[in-house]
Amino acid sequence: MKPSPFNYFNANTIQKALNALSKNDNAKIIAGGQSLVPMMNFRLAQPDLLIDISDIHELTKIKDDNDYIEIGSLLTHSNAIKSSCLKNNFPIIQKAISHVAHHTIRNQGTVGGSIANADPASEWPLLVTLLECVIKVQNKTKTREISAENFFESHFVTNLKEDEIITSIKIPKIKRSYGWSFFEESQRDGDFAIVETGVIIEIEKNNLIKKANISIGGVDEKIIRLKNIENLLIGMNINENLCNFKKQDIIDNINPISDNHSSDEYKKHLSFVLTKKAINAAKKQIIYN
Ligand SMILES: Cc1cc2nc3c(=O)[nH]c(=O)nc-3n(C[C@H](O)[C@H](O)[C@H](O)COP(=O)(O)OP(=O)(O)OC[C@H]3O[C@@H](n4cnc5c(N)ncnc54)[C@H](O)[C@@H]3O)c2cc1C
Repeated sequence: MKPSPFNYFNANTIQKALNALSKNDNAKIIAGGQSLVPMMNFRLAQPDLLIDISDIHELTKIKDDNDYIEIGSLLTHSNAIKSSCLKNNFPIIQKAISHVAHHTIRNQGTVGGSIANADPASEWPLLVTLLECVIKVQNKTKTREISAENFFESHFVTNLKEDEIITSIKIPKIKRSYGWSFFEESQRDGDFAIVETGVIIEIEKNNLIKKANISIGGVDEKIIRLKNIENLLIGMNINENLCNFKKQDIIDNINPISDNHSSDEYKKHLSFVLTKKAINAAKKQIIYN
């Protein structure tokens, strides 16, 4: 298939991109093109104008602040994997993003494109939800910051307005000692996850769990935080059996649907198995801060 005809504008500054976006009703930002181009080829997207932001160098940067790491929206999946700053602060990012597609796609695809696309089986949406990131967006006149919880609304739907672009993502640093893990199950390496889970467990000096974040993807219209299980863990000693919950406790909080790859029942089963596996793995992988 070929896309319908479109015009192309290479915006090499944020202001030029925002001006073009505000003046054209049926315009689309293109970053890595790894989701948008297939959608255009299938004519699921038919923009009149493509605004290419891939030459805006300032959107590729990683900034290390006292309280957070800020990553530019144009950071590619490959550069996220290679970044020593991200690896030192959030080793879970390297682990999870290594599951995104294959080298060629990872070299082009960007974090901003992935979260704007809001596929509920994608790795970046899971990470920004799990790590309680803040998404910075900008239109011609103002900037705003949106928590990950409020950013994702449904399958491929976000809180982003038509005249806004994502400029960066702020990832709060974890100051306590913590354990982390990420697992996903897919049909083949590089395929989208059938189910994916991420866990962060923060502990105090006495080994009691102060905070637990558990996210699961591929099983609902957006990434789900399993808050009932998180609350069960708070106050427990990290060395106790942390998986004293039932399958029903997970499936009450998710809504998987059957597709060509697997049934809803299989996804429910995987959700239970992967959540337990991820909690036990996080427990074994404490980083002392
Ligand atoms: C074969 C294949 C396999 C894949 N497998 C996986 C996988 O396993 N896991 C996974 O997570 N992804 C996968 N992907 C998708 C890939 O990760 C994409 O790179 C990513 O989803 C989109 O990033 P992009 O930069 O290419 O965005 P684009 O395709 O350029 O844009 C995607 C959407 O985001 C919008 N957009 C882009 N940047 C911005 C911005 N800064 N501000 C506002 N809107 C913006 C665009 O307008 C468009 O609507 C796969 C893709 C392919 C082709």
